[in-house]
Amino acid sequence: MKKIRAAALILAFALGFSALAAGCGSSRDDESSVTQDVAQIDRSGKNLVRPGIMTVDRPGADGSDAAAPDGSGTETPAPETETETETETETPAPEETDAPRVVSGSHIVAIDAGHQLYGDSGQEPVGPGSGTTKARVSSGTSGCVTGIPEYQLNLTIALLLQQKLEAAGIGVYMIRSSNDVSISNVERAQAANASGADVYIRIHADGSSDPGTRGAHCICMSSGNPWNSYLYDASYRLSSCVINHYCAATGFSSRGVVARDDLTGTNWSEIPVTLIEMGFMSNPDEDSLMNDPGMQDRMAQGICDGILEYYGY
Ligand SMILES: [Zn+2]
Repeated sequence: MKKIRAAALILAFALGFSALAAGCGSSRDDESSVTQDVAQIDRSGKNLVRPGIMTVDRPGADGSDAAAPDGSGTETPAPETETETETETETPAPEETDAPRVVSGSHIVAIDAGHQLYGDSGQEPVGPGSGTTKARVSSGTSGCVTGIPEYQLNLTIALLLQQKLEAAGIGVYMIRSSNDVSISNVERAQAANASGADVYIRIHADGSSDPGTRGAHCICMSSGNPWNSYLYDASYRLSSCVINHYCAATGFSSRGVVARDDLTGTNWSEIPVTLIEMGFMSNPDEDSLMNDPGMQDRMAQGICDGILEYYGY
C-alpha cells in the first residue's frame, strides 16, 4: 500500500503599504552599509552551494584545517531511506507530518540583532589593539515606507530565526532579545565568543541614498584581515550558504558575499561569522516586503537553511 504524501504550502502575500509619509531617507548603516571600497569577492554568491551532504571543517586556531574557499567540502550521496514494503494491512499508516528537520550534534549559533533602541556614539577599537575607533553601536537605518527602525526589524527576524534553529535541534545564544539594551559591537562579539557558539550570525538591513538600490548580501572579513583572517575560509563559506538560501527563500536578488575589515563586531569575533544585510529599507519595495509577516518567515527560514547547510545537514 503506497502512502500518499500530501504537503500543501500556502503563502499569503498581504503587502500593506503604510501610509507613513516618511521620505526615502539616506541614513546609512554605519556598522555594515555598503561602501565604495569594499572587495567584491563573489557577487554571484552561488559557487559554494552544492547539493547533497557537505562535511564541515571547523577552523583550528591557525586556520590550517579550515574549509577551502571554494567550498570543496566532501560530498556524499544522501543515504537511501525509502524501504517501504508492500504489505496490506488494516492498520492505517502513521501520519506524515511536517515536523522540522531535527539534527544531531551540539551546535550552538550566536545571533545578534544589529543595533538597539538608542545608538551609542562612545568610541571603541574596530579590532583588538587597533588605534582606529568607531561608535560603540550606531542607530541603524529605518524603513522609507514603513518607518520601522532597523533595530526592530533585525530583532523580529532574529527571534524567528531562533525559533527555527531550536526547532531543528540547534542551540541558540541570543545577544539581545529586546530593543532597549546597551551593548556595543565589541561587547556583542565578546558575548558570542564566550557563549560556546560555533558560528556568529549578525542580522542587519541596509540603507542607501539611492532608493533604487536593492538586494541582499553577506559580509565576512577579508583573507588579509589583521585580527581574524584565520576565520576567513569558514566565514566565507558560511556567508555563501546563508546568502544563497536567503535569496532562494525570499526571491531577493543576491549581491553576493562581500569582504570588509572595518566592521567592529566582525573583527572581534573569534568564531566564524557572517553579517547579513537582508535588503534595503531605503527601497520602497524591499522595505514593505521585509515587514510582511509571510516574507519575514521566509527570511528567517532562508537564514536557518543556510546555517544548516554550513553544518552539513
Ligand atoms: Zn545595521
